[in-house]
Amino acid sequence: MAVDMKFIEELESRIPKGKVRTRFAPSPTGYMHVGNLRTALYTWLIARHNDGTFILRIEDTDQGRLVEGAVDVIYKTMAECGLTHDEGPDVGGPVGPYVQTERRDLYLPFAQLLVEKGAAYYCFCEKSESEEDSGEFNRAADPCRELSAEEVAANLAAGKPYVIRQRIPTEGTTTFHDVSFGDITVENKTLDDQVLIKRDGLPTYNFANVVDDHLMGITHVVRGSEYLSSAPKYNLLYEAFGWEIPTYVHCSPVMRDAQNKMSKRHGDPSYEDLIAKGYLTNAVLNYVALLGWSPKGELSEQEIFSLEELVDAFDIAGISKSPAIFDIVKLDHFNATYLRALTPEEFARVAEPYIRQSVKNPDIDAAQIAALLQARCEHLTDIPEKVDFFDELPEYDIEFFTNKKSKTNPDICRDMLKAAIPALTSIDSWTNEAVHDALINLAASLEVKNATLMWPVRIAAAGKLVTPGGAVEICHILGKDETLRRLNLGLEKLG
Ligand code: GLU
Repeated sequence: MAVDMKFIEELESRIPKGKVRTRFAPSPTGYMHVGNLRTALYTWLIARHNDGTFILRIEDTDQGRLVEGAVDVIYKTMAECGLTHDEGPDVGGPVGPYVQTERRDLYLPFAQLLVEKGAAYYCFCEKSESEEDSGEFNRAADPCRELSAEEVAANLAAGKPYVIRQRIPTEGTTTFHDVSFGDITVENKTLDDQVLIKRDGLPTYNFANVVDDHLMGITHVVRGSEYLSSAPKYNLLYEAFGWEIPTYVHCSPVMRDAQNKMSKRHGDPSYEDLIAKGYLTNAVLNYVALLGWSPKGELSEQEIFSLEELVDAFDIAGISKSPAIFDIVKLDHFNATYLRALTPEEFARVAEPYIRQSVKNPDIDAAQIAALLQARCEHLTDIPEKVDFFDELPEYDIEFFTNKKSKTNPDICRDMLKAAIPALTSIDSWTNEAVHDALINLAASLEVKNATLMWPVRIAAAGKLVTPGGAVEICHILGKDETLRRLNLGLEKLG
């Protein structure tokens, strides 16, 4: 079968040259697991660090795994994370289409070219797909390897179904280089004559991946280390075509513990799960960047990096081949740091939906509550439970009034509330300062420690032992009427 060289040359003429080009090539599974997010981030960072081009390619050839709406999850996650792409299905580009199923007809001529070069062959043997996919590779000489050109032509003319297989040399070794794993050499006899084009004319994933990376001019391939074992076969393909081999960066898996990879199926969180749990995108990205990469030189001690700082600092030599363990406690630390670093306005904006989950009363100002929370918050999802008392005074135990450090017990608290209620009633303009001054002056005139007065006021106002903010802030936010109502209820409780 004649190879359509014009078609191949036209595609090759479109390949941009002279710039770093990287791609993130997710399969649309419906969520972004942490390892994928890391691959996306590293790939994006390599492009941006080198003023290169970042490409999004959707690898959807495995139709069995397709999930409705899954591609949108990819776009949404990338956009949310700020990992902007320069070329991709939605924005186009010179080497499209960028969705693998839309490229389906493009691979056969490349396989035919390989046949012509002797690096692949038509195979007419009847093997079931499951035999092909079982992964149990047992190199038995395939009779089709040795068919003459005439026999092949006759079979094709007779319409015999075929696959095209890679012709792996039976002897010798193949060496490939990976940035973090170094040189890896395998014996060719351990590699199988993998199928490149299936009986239905469509490419296998392994073949499409190589052709696409070439036609898209990819200079750096970043992907999970599960693809390491395929890399020698990829190299043989590149060599047979005479194409330049990209720089490989295989990343070790992100682990749940020393033995197990993180897995969504086993309940480990995906990116979306982390966001739903109240982690900030920037904190997740910062943490994920350090799962398998570390900065060098004067930055080697730095932990907190904005995306822009990562672009400056990111160097592929810092990628480690040892598997990284995902440590949620560490992520908590990053998240708390990021929450504290937000401006009060930004924090109020991200916290408000969580505050409103439990504080429905529109008269209560969510921004004022946010100001109390910022310094003490590790996760946004902790918020609703911390601030629920603003909406409704919970049932609380009279024992809450007893506190050693504040020198209080129910009797003392009764006296304190009795004095506090008129002092607060006399405030005309209910500001934080007015509430503060009224209580501080009252403590002075009663000759008690501030805490002895503040403790019962806070307990009666909040009905909780632990609250964000002290008595003054809580009373201020509740407003005068509600504060006095609650203090009177406290007094009743104390008899
Ligand atoms: N589609 C593959 C995956 O999601 C990507 C493999 C690659 O980047 O080469 O695992």
